[in-house]
Amino acid sequence: MSEFNTPANNGPYINDVERAMHVRDQISQGVDWQEFANCKGANPDIFYSDNKRDVVDAKFICSRCVVRQECLNYALKYNDPKGVFGIWGEKTEYERRAIRERNYFDTSL
Ligand code: SF4
Repeated sequence: MSEFNTPANNGPYINDVERAMHVRDQISQGVDWQEFANCKGANPDIFYSDNKRDVVDAKFICSRCVVRQECLNYALKYNDPKGVFGIWGEKTEYERRAIRERNYFDTSL
């Protein structure tokens, strides 16, 4: 996974907690959350695939993403509720629809 945003190539942190704190600090200073996306450098096709292996791989990348919540909130907030496509914030279209129907997302971001 060295091509993704690991601590080695995305900042001077020594563990996940420090990395998350660094990212929150950067976002609070106006840096776009997408700058910290773990999917940068990944094959985008796996995020828009019906293949189960692709979905597992995409979700694994998301699971290690420090801006997963921002990504999910963005998808829930801005995507067409009836036409959402692809995996965002570790959630498939179907999972996001279920969240949206429960009105379960944080609109404060
Ligand atoms: S949570 Fe969003 S930004 Fe992070 S890896 Fe997944 S799709 Fe990319």
